Amino acid sequence: MIDLKSRILDVPDFPKKGIVFKDITPLLADAKGFAETIDRLAEPFVGRGVQIVAGIESRGFLLATPIAYRLGAGVVPIRKKGKLPRAVKSASYALEYGTDSIEAHADAFSQGAKVLLVDDVLATGGTAAAAVKLIEDVGGELVGAAFLIELGFLNGRKKLPGRRIESLVTY
Ligand code: AMP
Repeated sequence: MIDLKSRILDVPDFPKKGIVFKDITPLLADAKGFAETIDRLAEPFVGRGVQIVAGIESRGFLLATPIAYRLGAGVVPIRKKGKLPRAVKSASYALEYGTDSIEAHADAFSQGAKVLLVDDVLATGGTAAAAVKLIEDVGGELVGAAFLIELGFLNGRKKLPGRRIESLVTY
């Protein structure tokens, strides 16, 4: 197995002071590291009937798309507010100051579709919890959520009670 952590860089004080940004671009640029990342993220969900992999803008797209291909599923983008061209459903989540929202096309998948949620980092869990709400609002059935990185000290899992959460590396 490849040491994934050795290819993830810590960038202190980005995008603002006090945040240690996890830069996954060296891992994605490494052919073997990228392949292993996708295989290992997909593995727990092989044979579980996943029909749609929903990725959160924007680094989530880089992971969700090859995972969907690997699982023989379709891929759906969950985007920041105002980016999708047709009728949307939205879900809000708290930021340090105020709120933001994410959106999916209201007809992004059929009722009862089995959906896997994918993002690069599970931090406080606010974004993922909003994404789960959105997926269910559109009519999907959440099979689970897969993250490359989990910042365990922020307890993001607590915002996703009863959900199947998989992550490859924890800090
Ligand atoms: P949260 O809603 O707090 O769980 O934050 C998750 C979202 O913010 C994900 O879409 C991540 O891409 C991004 N994010 C949060 N913390 C970090 C971090 N330390 N490094 C890189 N991305 C992060």
